[in-house]
Parts: sequence; C-alpha cells; structure tokens
Amino acid sequence: MASYASAKNGAKTLLIEKSQEIGEPVRCAEAIPSIEEFGLKPEPEFVRNIIKGGILFSPSGKKVTVTQDKAQGYIVERKIFDKYLAIRAAKVGSKVAVKTTAIDLERDGNYWNVIVEFLGEEYAIKTKVVIAADGVESNIAEYAGLKAKKKPLEICSCAEYEMTNVELLDKNMMEFYFGNEVAPGGYVWIFPKGETANVGLGVRDKKKKAIDYLEEFIENGLAKDRLKDATPIEFKVGGAPVSGPIEKTYTDGLLVVGDAAGQISPLTGGGIYLAMDCGLIAGEVASKAIKANDWSEETLKEYERRWKEKHYEYLMNHLKYRKILEKMSDDELDALAEALGDSLEGIDLKKFVKRIITKKPSLLKYFKDLL
Ligand SMILES: Cc1cc2nc3c(=O)[nH]c(=O)nc-3n(C[C@H](O)[C@H](O)[C@H](O)COP(=O)(O)OP(=O)(O)OC[C@H]3O[C@@H](n4cnc5c(N)ncnc54)[C@H](O)[C@@H]3O)c2cc1C
Repeated sequence: MASYASAKNGAKTLLIEKSQEIGEPVRCAEAIPSIEEFGLKPEPEFVRNIIKGGILFSPSGKKVTVTQDKAQGYIVERKIFDKYLAIRAAKVGSKVAVKTTAIDLERDGNYWNVIVEFLGEEYAIKTKVVIAADGVESNIAEYAGLKAKKKPLEICSCAEYEMTNVELLDKNMMEFYFGNEVAPGGYVWIFPKGETANVGLGVRDKKKKAIDYLEEFIENGLAKDRLKDATPIEFKVGGAPVSGPIEKTYTDGLLVVGDAAGQISPLTGGGIYLAMDCGLIAGEVASKAIKANDWSEETLKEYERRWKEKHYEYLMNHLKYRKILEKMSDDELDALAEALGDSLEGIDLKKFVKRIITKKPSLLKYFKDLL
C-alpha cells in the first residue's frame, strides 16, 4: 500500500522485496476485516471466504458466539492478495524489485543509500525517503537509528496448517480457543477458507514450541473430533510482534510501517489491515514531502501524527486487554465465558465489562480499570 500511495501521488517509487515472489512465504491466517476503504473490491481472485463472526471457546469448552449484522470481513489467499497489491502499485507507476534484500542503510548528505543484495551482488540505491515495511524481523528502522527490535517474548510464535477435510461448525464463522494449557499467551484459531481452513495458533511461552502446541490441539483439543479426518496442504510458521507500537516511527528520510512498527493488534495478532492503512498514510506523507522538497523528520512526523490519530488508542487498548487475559487462570477464563453468555451481537466493551462484573464479581479486579 505504501508503494501504491507513493507512486499514485507522483513520487518515483521502488518496492524492494527479498523473496523471489511477492506474497511468499505466507505467514498468516489470512483474515482481514475490511478492504473496501482502500478502494479494493472483494475479487474472487483472492477472496476465499466471507466471515460473519467468531465463536470463542473457553478452556473447558464454553462457547460464546460473536456476530454482527453486516459481513465482518474476508479470508483472503494472501499470496495472491499481496501480489494483487503489488500489481496495483505497479499500475500507478511503482517499480518492483524481487529477490532483492536491503542489507544496510547509509546516510549520504540528505539522502539514504539503501544497500541491496541481488543474486550475490551488492548495489546502492540513492533515495530521499525509505519506507521500512520489512515485517517482524525488521532491521531497516534500526539501521536508521530507531529502536525497533522486539524482544523474544514480545513476539507471539505461530504455527499453522492449512488443512482440508476440516469439519467446521459454520463455514462463515472463525473459531478461537483460549487457555493456558492449549495456547499460553495466545490462542488457537480455525479460520474457514472454503475448501480448506487455516488451523493454527500463537503462543508466548518458553516451555514448548508453537508446533508442539498445535499438534497437541489437533490430536487432543476441543475440536479433535472435527479435525480427525483433516490433513494439511500447507504449513506456515511466523512471529507476530504483540508488544504494541514502537516508540518512534519516523526520522529524517525514513518511515516505519506495519509489523516493523508494531502496528499489529497485541490482542488478536491481526495486522494486515493496520499495515495497509498505515502504509497508505506513509506513502502519502512521503510523496508529499518529496513534492515539497523537504523530507526532514520535522515534515515526516505528520505520518506518526496521522496513524496515531486513527489507530494508537486501539493498539494500546488491545495491549491492555491482552495483559488482563494473560493474568487469568483457566478457571477464570471459563468464568469470563460464562459471564459473557452464549452470544454477543457486536463488540461493545463497556457493555461486556458491566455484564462480566455483574455476573462474576470475582473478575472485578481484572476489569475495574476498564469501566
Ligand atoms: C501465523 C500468523 C498468522 C497471522 N494471521 C493474521 C490474520 O489472520 N489477520 C491479520 O490481519 N494478521 C495476521 N497476522 C499478522 C500479519 O501477517 C502481519 O501483521 C502483516 O503481514 C504485516 O504486514 P507487513 O507488511 O508489515 O509485514 P510482512 O507481511 O511480514 O511483509 C514484510 C515483507 O518485507 C520483506 N522483507 C523483510 N526484510 C526485508 C529486507 N531486508 N529486504 C527486502 N525485503 C524484506 C519480507 O519478505 C516480507 O515480504 C498473522 C501473523 C502470523 C505470523
């Protein structure tokens, strides 16, 4: 999105991707709440399913169904979706360099030299503004002197099988499983994707690897009967940085976007929409700065002001909720599910909290600050 917005607004733009193919490898459960506001249509080419809500399971299996009237989002084929976005950027003038890894940044007067490696050779690309959208393992922001490295326990380790022959509860509902045994510091998901489903989990734990938790869930978890005939067609691993946004996302001639900037929900690990929206803002701000012939940090800070205005409160609230949930025992998570009842229409946090503490006053200690 950053290269799309930058090129569309007239800046000479180059998208650099280290993989040989845009969109690969996929490290994602592929759920996105909305794409229309980016001027995108839910094309059959990349949309695999429409999602109407979620079914949450407490550790003992208490089920809470969350729905909304309007469609809640999509499951996309991420490798096709990402490629679609790159083609869209190219159509408005962005160039794309694949199998090209940015390995360093050097300041050159008022410019950056981005040192890239392509097929064993190094090249320097001189540029006015760098948009560092290099994901969870981001180095680019650090090369520019920003603090962006995430500590291991700030990263949720994820493992996922895309499986076929999954018996779904509802083909348009995502399933979420919580519990300190099943997925400490995270949750298990089953996201229906048409013929297949993404069955995965994220954990923050030193005892066992994410894949071990996943195998255990598939064999013995609450959905084991519905997964007994399931078989994988793809395996994905990856990390989701869930510690909230980094301290500063701009400096002279550089902006940080997406997972690299911690623009991902610390509660759900959802980051596609945020990366796209913040990328759009970054592309707009960068191209405007270049037009005005001033890409100093003073000018580029507009990016941080704009993305924070839209998303900072959401991110910080999700960080707060995650911290509450991770303090709760499995019994308390069961009590929470009991208090929420069988079904919820939409997500009204204040209403939830009132319901929880009326029905389970013992949980007041966790939620009183949210009132
Ligand atoms: C298992 C898993 C499941 C997830 N499920 C969901 C979900 O269902 N919904 C959701 O919204 N979010 C989900 N997320 C999070 C989501 O995938 C990310 O938040 C999102 O992809 C962030 O986009 P990004 O562009 O910042 O980073 P990325 O998508 O990681 O893209 C970064 C790109 O930069 C490239 N790159 C990195 N370093 C360099 C370099 N030095 N030079 C050149 N290129 C480089 C990488 O190859 C990559 O293509 C999930 C994450 C994981 C790990």
